[in-house]
Amino acid sequence: MSSQTPRERAARLRELIGRYDHEYYVRDAPSVPDAEYDRLFRELQELERADPSLVVVDSPTQRVAGAPSAAFAAVRHAVPMLSLANALEDDEVRAFDRRVRDRLRELELPVDSLAYAMEPKYDGLALELRYERGSFVQAATRGDGTTGEDVTANVRTIRAVPLRLAGAAPALLEVRGEVLLYRRDFERINERQRAAGEREFVNPRNAAAGSLRQLDPSISARRPLRFFAYGVGRAEGSRLPGTQSGLLDWLSTIGFPVSPERGLAADVAGLLAFHSSLLARRSQLPYDIDGVVYKVDRRDWQEAIGTVARAPRFAIAHKFPAEEAVSELLDVEVQVGRTGKLTPVARLRPVFVGGVTVGSATLHNEDEIRRKDLLIGDQVVVRRAGDVIPEVVRALTERRDDGRPRHAFRMPARCPVCDSAVVREEGEADARCVAGLYCPAQRKQALLHFAQRRAMDIDGLGERIVEQLVESGRVRTPADLYALDVSTLASLERMGEKSAAKLVAAIDRSRHTTFARFLFALGIRHVGEEVARILASRYRDVDELLAEDWDALAARKLAVQKENARRRLRSEPAQPVPLEGVGPEIVASVQRFLAESHNRDVVEALLAAGIGWPRPANEAATHEDAPGGALAGRVFVVTGTLPTMSREDAHDWIRRHGGSVASSVSRKTDFVVAGEAAGSKLARARELGIPVLDEAGLLRMAAPGAEN
Ligand code: NAD
Repeated sequence: MSSQTPRERAARLRELIGRYDHEYYVRDAPSVPDAEYDRLFRELQELERADPSLVVVDSPTQRVAGAPSAAFAAVRHAVPMLSLANALEDDEVRAFDRRVRDRLRELELPVDSLAYAMEPKYDGLALELRYERGSFVQAATRGDGTTGEDVTANVRTIRAVPLRLAGAAPALLEVRGEVLLYRRDFERINERQRAAGEREFVNPRNAAAGSLRQLDPSISARRPLRFFAYGVGRAEGSRLPGTQSGLLDWLSTIGFPVSPERGLAADVAGLLAFHSSLLARRSQLPYDIDGVVYKVDRRDWQEAIGTVARAPRFAIAHKFPAEEAVSELLDVEVQVGRTGKLTPVARLRPVFVGGVTVGSATLHNEDEIRRKDLLIGDQVVVRRAGDVIPEVVRALTERRDDGRPRHAFRMPARCPVCDSAVVREEGEADARCVAGLYCPAQRKQALLHFAQRRAMDIDGLGERIVEQLVESGRVRTPADLYALDVSTLASLERMGEKSAAKLVAAIDRSRHTTFARFLFALGIRHVGEEVARILASRYRDVDELLAEDWDALAARKLAVQKENARRRLRSEPAQPVPLEGVGPEIVASVQRFLAESHNRDVVEALLAAGIGWPRPANEAATHEDAPGGALAGRVFVVTGTLPTMSREDAHDWIRRHGGSVASSVSRKTDFVVAGEAAGSKLARARELGIPVLDEAGLLRMAAPGAEN
């Protein structure tokens, strides 16, 4: 760029802007964000201002862009449809106001009574509607400002456009306004485009343009286009209101949708206040606006002030900070979340977008990067709308020929935090670090999961304490919990001697647990309480799990399933399926977890710290294919409060002895175990004649030598 002369640069800018105009106005498919276009446009304006000899007749600065397409009949605009000059900074608004006042003084008009009408700047496309004696007869796009396209048939399908004006209508009236799509309608259209395998629109504006400029009106009819009026072109046979604000009120009374977001201001302070108030509410509006428009309110003064090449001098668009901008994808870093999920994050050349400077953006996952075809080193479009977190929308692939190095992102095979294995499961979008018990990024989550009531049940080990223990480095893995003493805990914030002692006791108590709880506590992916229970009904400890020949088990499982299918055809009872309810996905997850030596070390440390559980006396759990046990095949319902066991303990105990647990009493129930205050379930058991046991009776069922 720096090696170019201003003349060469101006020519290059004209060429680029010409190309972008074509993409935007003719193909309704821009390849760069508006802010990027505006930046180039302004650069060209600056060059031309510095050296007027650079201005050529066909410079984009000299005309309204948007050549009408030959596919539509041409419509000449009797009053040209112009563009708007724009201001990005408050100072540019001040300069505009000064120019207006100077001009009014020059014209010897009473500048003190100057007022500006303020309106949203709709981000749609301009349309002129022609009414003859109150009837809609023609609609035309802006085109190049002088000649537009006849889109009458399509506009007839827009419900917001009145076909007949209300009240006494002028002989001729040309109403101007903006056609747009509500954001939610735009999203629905894109969903449909996606489903039909068709090109998606970049934004609501281009979707609206694409819908309006359809050769087949039935397509326009299916797109819920909207219209807002903001001015008039020609008018004959009636006197119109003398101010812009009055004109909009009147347009509303004769049947046009007009924005309620309007105001009047006497000075720059009023203009800026309107700008910031609408900017704050921008994301709440159902449609996109890209700024506000200030117009001298008196229409006779507008005329007196006049227009320049492509825009009126009496109005200006005060733009909002762009929601999309171009930046460079410098690198992709990987963050590890609390659950071990690896999230790629884009490191960007800082760019001002959506009102803040953005230096990074989430990329969600590997597929997303691939789908968007992003390469490190690419020029990319960054979007930040409202308070939504910034995102990388797409790469400017057409700029890849700039000779700069680029390369594809690859998800690391080892966790960037703890160097353990990273796995992406089949059918899942996310890659994860498998060292759940060890990885520093996952520490807090792992500890909270470990300590929860349904896992190791360490009462009092809440989020605040875990936070402090981890941050101070006192606890790195759950095994470290078992080395904590009262004085260490008492030194934590908001922790007294007494609660510290209670916590130590709770930790101590948790040493006596069940294998199912322990397995669940480890936080192995896909191993919830139920799966942990099924695993614990087959294996007695981690060693047995480690010793399992999973391939052989899978083969056996399949054989039994096949046999059962045959039996079902013959109406014979089915055989129990080994590890029923534990599919290959879960098995793979358990294997991966145990294959990670970091996890195994922690498990060993936990066992060394004295964690243990009762083993089934009759070794039922290791029984091949049938979870035998004293209670095998029996269905229990536990109700009421038992004297020593909690409901969950009782369930655990029943399952450990081969029984199963149901939540409601039916004819399939074999026993109801009832404690104090048992209610309807007990009544139902009596009704059905189902044997009722108390806790002692239950425990006796599994006592050695028991018969049932
Ligand atoms: P403009 O859209 O910035 O302003 C003029 C238009 O504003 C009018 O024609 C009218 O349609 C609209 N408008 C909305 N609300 C209005 C209101 N209340 N009163 C009056 N007019 C209102 O200018 P333009 O010449 O139509 O287009 C230029 C803009 O288009 C650029 O700033 C750029 O952002 C965008 N553009 C982008 C690309 C690209 O490749 N991304 C290419 C060309 C143009």
